[in-house]
Amino acid sequence: MTLSLYNTLTRRKDEFKPIDDKNIRMYVCGPTVYDRPHLGNARSVVVYDVLYRLLRHIYGEDHVTYVRNITDVDDKINAAAKANGEPISALTGRVEGWFREDMAALGCLLPTKEPHATAHIAQMIEIIEKLIVNQHAYVSQGHVLFRVSSYDRYGALSGRKLDELVAGARVEVESYKEHPGDFVLWKPADESDDPSSVFQSPWGPGRPGWHIECSAMSSTYLGDHFDIHGGGADLMFPHHENEIAQSCCAQPKSKFANYWIHNGFLTVNGEKMSKSLGNFTTVSDKLNQGVQGEVIRLALLSTRYSEPLDWNEKLVHDAKTTLDKWYRGIDKPDTSNQKYDLSDFLNALDDDMNLPKAFSLMHTADAGALKQMGTILGLLQQAPEQWFKGEGDDSAIVIQIDARIAAKKAKNWAEADKIRKALSEQGIVLEDKPDGTTDWRRA
Ligand code: AMP
Ligand code: ZN
Repeated sequence: MTLSLYNTLTRRKDEFKPIDDKNIRMYVCGPTVYDRPHLGNARSVVVYDVLYRLLRHIYGEDHVTYVRNITDVDDKINAAAKANGEPISALTGRVEGWFREDMAALGCLLPTKEPHATAHIAQMIEIIEKLIVNQHAYVSQGHVLFRVSSYDRYGALSGRKLDELVAGARVEVESYKEHPGDFVLWKPADESDDPSSVFQSPWGPGRPGWHIECSAMSSTYLGDHFDIHGGGADLMFPHHENEIAQSCCAQPKSKFANYWIHNGFLTVNGEKMSKSLGNFTTVSDKLNQGVQGEVIRLALLSTRYSEPLDWNEKLVHDAKTTLDKWYRGIDKPDTSNQKYDLSDFLNALDDDMNLPKAFSLMHTADAGALKQMGTILGLLQQAPEQWFKGEGDDSAIVIQIDARIAAKKAKNWAEADKIRKALSEQGIVLEDKPDGTTDWRRA
């Protein structure tokens, strides 16, 4: 069987045909770094981590390029830095470190590239200039706006018609817009802005709109035509619709992304987990309660990725029970003579990542197969004795050590040193091994 993925653009499960099977290219919208990630944010990261691992398994580790941006310029960031009374870079640096730490604890691989929006302002300006020249954008009262009426495929991804958009009045109607659906490409600075969030442009000092950031960073690292674009279901409209409009109008011959994938929401009592509703739990809160990262990872993968998943303690409890069982399973000597056939398992994953089916097959696998299946999904990566040792008080230490290893990999030495110091204050001595692992003991 070949991989098929549900494509929001075509509204059906499409067979995945790579543009270049030596270089599969995937872009996923990353975090806006103004606050510590919650479990809803984590669901999106974990889902695409599984897809990344699956693509690497199918096409080879060196044949997949995964880009996930970091949005480090945004109104929410400016507001949070102001509220905290701290410089923007202090806030974005700290939150980015938290994001890395928390996602590493959930067993997520680092993407091939993690570009920062602030390092790609020149590329954004270049696209905006093209859009102005070919009449897809206009300058009005210091803003640059995208002219939605100029793109006849606007709404194709989300299935919204321009007229409905106006009638529904879900978009802000500002005096500087020709059409209420027009969206900002460049926004002028005002006097109260922190100078570090103000950039020079042909239209005066200001900052880019959010949508243009992803158009610029995806084309910089993946070209104008790439395979997969992913993100949460909330990003389908307007964010992804606007990315398509910008990129396709700036490069009229390009198709932008072939497959648009959207993960369902993590909900709490049926409502989307979100910062604004206040119904969120951060990943670090859960880890600090002694829940192992791998338990959170498995809990976040408990339903099909495209469906909503309601978060509750039973999910955590079930994930823990399952992992205990699997770790006991891989702890047994592999006595079966016959080689376990992984094809049903791989077929399940090829079927739009049917994880519930894949997990049900793991319950019947022998030790050797279970290990292989775990590796494909980013599960069962610890030695069983480590897993069972990780219970109780020690789990918090193991999580910290994993986070430090991730920080070192990311060359975030300050963060790595901070974690070492914090552990040393708890009487934990670390010993780095030449193979990149770290042993620990109580002083
Ligand atoms: P944000 O920081 O809100 O821009 O979100 C970052 C990523 O997390 C985006 O891909 C969102 O779609 C995703 N996301 C945010 N909240 C949830 C949620 N409750 N469930 C699933 N994904 C979410
Ligand atoms: Zn994006």
